[in-house]
Amino acid sequence: MKKSILLFLFSALILLFMPVQSHAATTQTKIILDGQELNLPNEVEVVNVRNNIMIPIRVVAENLKFNVNWDQKTQNVNIQQGSKTITLTVGKQEAYVGNSAVFLNIAPQIIKNTVVVPIRFVSEEMGLRVGWNNKEKIVTLASTTSPPSSPANGSQNDATTNLVDEINYADNQPVVSLDREITPQSDATTNLIHELNYANNQLVVSLDREVTPVITTLKNPERIVVDFPATDFGNMSQPVPTGSMGKLSTGDIPNLTEVRYSLFKNDPAQVRIVIELNNVSSVNYNQQYITGKFILDLDMVNDPTPATPISGSGKKIVVIDPGHGGSDPGTTSITNKHEKHFNLALALKVQAILLQEPEIEVVMTRETDVYPTRSERVKLANDLNADVFVSIHGNSVLSSPQTTGTETFYYQRASSKELANIVHKHLVKALGLKDRGVKNGSLQVIRETKMPAVLLEVGFLSNKSEEEAMMSESVQAKAAQAIVDGIKEYLKL
Ligand SMILES: [Zn+2]
Repeated sequence: MKKSILLFLFSALILLFMPVQSHAATTQTKIILDGQELNLPNEVEVVNVRNNIMIPIRVVAENLKFNVNWDQKTQNVNIQQGSKTITLTVGKQEAYVGNSAVFLNIAPQIIKNTVVVPIRFVSEEMGLRVGWNNKEKIVTLASTTSPPSSPANGSQNDATTNLVDEINYADNQPVVSLDREITPQSDATTNLIHELNYANNQLVVSLDREVTPVITTLKNPERIVVDFPATDFGNMSQPVPTGSMGKLSTGDIPNLTEVRYSLFKNDPAQVRIVIELNNVSSVNYNQQYITGKFILDLDMVNDPTPATPISGSGKKIVVIDPGHGGSDPGTTSITNKHEKHFNLALALKVQAILLQEPEIEVVMTRETDVYPTRSERVKLANDLNADVFVSIHGNSVLSSPQTTGTETFYYQRASSKELANIVHKHLVKALGLKDRGVKNGSLQVIRETKMPAVLLEVGFLSNKSEEEAMMSESVQAKAAQAIVDGIKEYLKL
């Protein structure tokens, strides 16, 4: 392991490293690396921001012995060791590990003229294992031989993931079979919940690291119990119940009675969330973990107010949304054409094919060069109680004309992700453009629609050959058929 320090010290850095005044809120956080307490200079302050331990970049360079480069102009912090490079930007939650973008719990910031970065992220990316003892305010770092392999997907080691193999309910007791005993964990590994939300039939739990909860379905009363082992409440934005239950506001959802949460056990801590229902057997659920959030997606199967197809024909309702339009041209192609025209041309071809499908009712958000607002598009689909929502777009990065490929977006819901995977597969196969993958993205039309929803970026209009292809009738026909094939496969038609 190369341990040289390569610090680019500019005048700005001297300012950054000026001694900070001690004040009442100074934490006495200790950092222990491989059993040895780091000797932090007196003027160095470790700060706790919403339960994220932030350390000055000086500590990263001098004590953790990584190469650090601070660029005042771009506000970039570049941390490097061996072949590994991570780049963080002050005020931005998006960071880069090599060339891959990752999402931080918390953005680096400047506190009292000092750039501070989240110690967990930096350490874990550099192959250190991180523990946090909340009671004693101690960060423990341990060298590991193999750094985490997948920087983008949380940072938990397999070694600490307990797997639930089976869940049973007998003798009034949930019986949970695990691949190993979940031993009471010390504070050093206590996970912290920062936020709880229930909206659009999704329970969203923001955590400081990935935890696999134990989920149990119970009757009398009908409920789903979600237990987070070795987990406590962190700096929550909503009140933390002391000795009693907190309640989440859920809005008016048929079949859902209430969602409550509590610190179910102390020592080891365990957070319990209870979703109380009228009828638990009419609910399917999916769980996933996306950028610091555990998401439980509830699907009320026999919803008492079922989707009413507009025609009353029992057909599946598919909403096709040609992006932009009218006053909103979208992006511009390399030959100065507007994205909105491509979107509409392709969407109309999709519509033409879907009109031939006996079991599908197709509804367009626009059929001409007009601009319905994004909220209007969302409302249309939600009011129809549509089965599927597909938004059609073309990409463009004029500054990078060599960029090419097809990418597909969904937002959080497992059903949307499944639809995205299927449609994307068909599109990539039919067009043969570069596969840029299926991505989670918070885009209004797929975020606020309540049905499985995807946004397709078919290709790059800023690339000369891709633009030519996308503007051709034959390629649009292929793309339209692929989108329809994907929708039909998803709807099992
Ligand atoms: Zn667009």
